[in-house]
Amino acid sequence: GRVLVTGANGYIAVWIVKSLLDAGFAVRGTVRAESKATYLRKLFQSFGDKLEVVVVPDMTKEDAFAEHVQDVDAIAHTASPFHMNAVEPDEIIGPAVAGTLSVLKAAHVHGAVVKRVIVLSSTAALFRTTTEPVVLDESAWNEQAIAEVKEKGRDASAVAKYRASKTLAERAAWEWYEEKKKAGVLGWDLVVLNPPFVYGPILHECDRPENLNQSMRDWYRLIVEGKIDNDTLVTGGAMYVDVRDIAQAHTLALLKPEAGDNRFIISAGPYKWQDFASAAHRFDDKLPAGVTSYDPSKATHLLQYDNRKAIDVLGITYRSIDEVTNDSLQDFKARGWL
Ligand code: NDP
Repeated sequence: GRVLVTGANGYIAVWIVKSLLDAGFAVRGTVRAESKATYLRKLFQSFGDKLEVVVVPDMTKEDAFAEHVQDVDAIAHTASPFHMNAVEPDEIIGPAVAGTLSVLKAAHVHGAVVKRVIVLSSTAALFRTTTEPVVLDESAWNEQAIAEVKEKGRDASAVAKYRASKTLAERAAWEWYEEKKKAGVLGWDLVVLNPPFVYGPILHECDRPENLNQSMRDWYRLIVEGKIDNDTLVTGGAMYVDVRDIAQAHTLALLKPEAGDNRFIISAGPYKWQDFASAAHRFDDKLPAGVTSYDPSKATHLLQYDNRKAIDVLGITYRSIDEVTNDSLQDFKARGWL
């Protein structure tokens, strides 16, 4: 089969393209400019004409994807703004929602042989801040971020604007999908994948650490450059997944018919930054040791995600903190960034 991958030059997307090509799929990747296609074609040149890269300058335009979906069996939609620079909430929410709907509509109107659409959402779409221990599963929605943005507008925090963009884009996808499904007019089904922070080696075009994508830029700054205080090392953290595992989840979601109509949390588990720092120092003693008295068994993770569903239905396996750390450091070394 052939799969359309939107935003194919992104950190996660390049690993998705690799996972799909390795599994035998043909891939058509979309990028916003021709200049972003060259690197991808070269990276995957051993796959010959199994990879095609096309330019879609503005995914929110009517019929932006029309000619690109006609002969694809599936779509993986990953293109979405991930940054903390939006002033007006709509700068980030607008393209996230419009891009997602544009893909779904194209699949519906022009995707004659499409059987499945995967939307790469985020646990940002189900996250909540909490002062009590809570385990969230796929039934959760991030009402907090939507409320904060509604209430504070441009004064909402940058992270709330990003989280609202992911929540509203995913909600728009399910609402549009359920309505069409009820009308019985769709030839395909929807799968949504919700990863937390994605870390691990990079495969996309990137000339220097300052230009890394949001999540790996944070990881590099905190773990390699050690720009983090001791208190944040042992109390700060979240949930993580290796980039190769979220990529693999996309391939598995295409190979498992029963995945359709589902949302999946794709999370390896919780971390404190010191967990990565300890591993990094063990692999390379030139890197900062951080808080050596830290005991991971005593760390508290108030918010956790239930990751059973993806294990049961998709058969996914998760890389450990040690693997993420070691492979990221090896990658940075090979690039001369460490
Ligand atoms: P990147 O920044 O590396 O990739 C983002 C991709 O989206 C790029 O291809 C980018 O294109 C494209 N894009 C951004 N804004 C627009 C826009 N307005 N119109 C069209 N395309 C756009 O980030 P990631 O790989 O990390 O993120 C990919 C997806 O994964 C996003 O949907 C993100 O929300 C989600 N995600 C990421 C997590 C993480 O920790 N990294 C965690 C959870 C979810 P261009 O290069 O041209 O700007």
